[in-house]
Amino acid sequence: MQKQRSTRELRELDAAHHLHPFTDTTSLNQQGARVITKGEGIYLWDSEGNKIIDGMAGLWCVNIGYGRKDLSEVAKRQMDDLAYYNTFFKTTHPAVVELSHLLAEVAPAGFSHVFYTNSGSESVDTMIRMVRRYWEVKGQKQKKTLIGRWNGYHGSTIGGASLGGMAYMHQDGGDLPIPGIEHVQQPWWYGLGGDMTPEEFGLAAAKWLEDKILEIGPDKVAAFVGEPIQGAGGVIIPPSTYWPEVERICHKYDVLLVADEVICGFGRTGEWFGHQCFGFHPDIFTTAKGLSSGYLPIGAVFVGDKVAAMLAEGGDFNHGFTYSGHPVAAAVACANVRALRDEGIIERVKHETGPYMQQRWREVFSRFEHVGDVRGVGLIQAFTLVKNKATRELFPNTGEIGLICRDIFFRHDLIMRACGDHMVSAPPLVISKQEIDDMLALAAQCMEEFEAELK
Ligand code: PLP
Repeated sequence: MQKQRSTRELRELDAAHHLHPFTDTTSLNQQGARVITKGEGIYLWDSEGNKIIDGMAGLWCVNIGYGRKDLSEVAKRQMDDLAYYNTFFKTTHPAVVELSHLLAEVAPAGFSHVFYTNSGSESVDTMIRMVRRYWEVKGQKQKKTLIGRWNGYHGSTIGGASLGGMAYMHQDGGDLPIPGIEHVQQPWWYGLGGDMTPEEFGLAAAKWLEDKILEIGPDKVAAFVGEPIQGAGGVIIPPSTYWPEVERICHKYDVLLVADEVICGFGRTGEWFGHQCFGFHPDIFTTAKGLSSGYLPIGAVFVGDKVAAMLAEGGDFNHGFTYSGHPVAAAVACANVRALRDEGIIERVKHETGPYMQQRWREVFSRFEHVGDVRGVGLIQAFTLVKNKATRELFPNTGEIGLICRDIFFRHDLIMRACGDHMVSAPPLVISKQEIDDMLALAAQCMEEFEAELK
């Protein structure tokens, strides 16, 4: 039996042997990592016994909440029956068949096929290969360029990080973006909209896409890819005019439209998928996170019938992963998606907890001097820390002030995230109204402390 280690020992071993993602190792090791040991519902506990409200559902993924014994029992049963088999070479297994059938039921019309991956990044890379394969089989091999957006996030693999528009990721010595990827500006009205109304700005932002397609040449553009709401970019919610106009432009120039639903998918916005919230119709959409509520790594690319037919026509699609459709991950994802549906969790986000959060979120944060643009939909919300609310002036050195604010929340056992100077939250979808009140009461205290520190 593994001996019980003290928090200090765990920290020391972690510092000695573990390189963390997206982390400044030196500063982490000076401070020591917080050791998380248990989860239940919306709560986490650390190794020192502190109870923490997880306002981020892990990394926007634990949609169903922590501690569901039914999911761990499904995993055990599946492991006992068939811990592993692959789906290459004309084999399948019941868990992946059941999941595919269920996903076709919850997906919008026109999406009867999925392709499995292990993460959001792999879903994005799979989608890039699929899009290029589609045009190749159609006899338009030169249609290769994918257009993403600045401040979009599509993962950390070479394809995903290229398509994403996080300049600091491109600058990290990896020679990104790879060729064949272009970017247009994000639809961020508060920061870029100037004197335009949000609706005017939504159309202007879509026009940047049209200009880029014309600059590259429509015969060379394969797809436009965007998150319905930019999550890691700071919960940037486009104006209502944006997505329908983007869809019109993609149709006009025969460009595939791809929604990256890794965060928005599986109920985050109160709809099953974020594109349903904004009323547009992608040809492909990528998912992961909420598919298994993070209980096991699994992602899925939902392939629209037009694209699926062309892939089938092309014969072999030489792409896949050892763990594509892993039996245990598939069984757990299936139990998770069924629970999201049968327990009415997404319905509740749409009609009850989502609207309640949005109303309370605005009431609580709008009154602070350094808070501008309080926004959200369903159970994904944010506010932006601003120097001057009246003029929408931002703080210099983007991100510095956000980290100060985030650390105050963290010290008070409330996890929210700073994406630059946008403070964001996306709790488990099972959060109750009482828990929303508790979370926001604590958040308000933290904001008072933060503003006092700024003075
Ligand atoms: N796409 C989007 C929209 C994401 O938000 C993320 C992760 O946050 C990814 C892709 C990458 O997912 P993963 O970290 O599972 O590779």
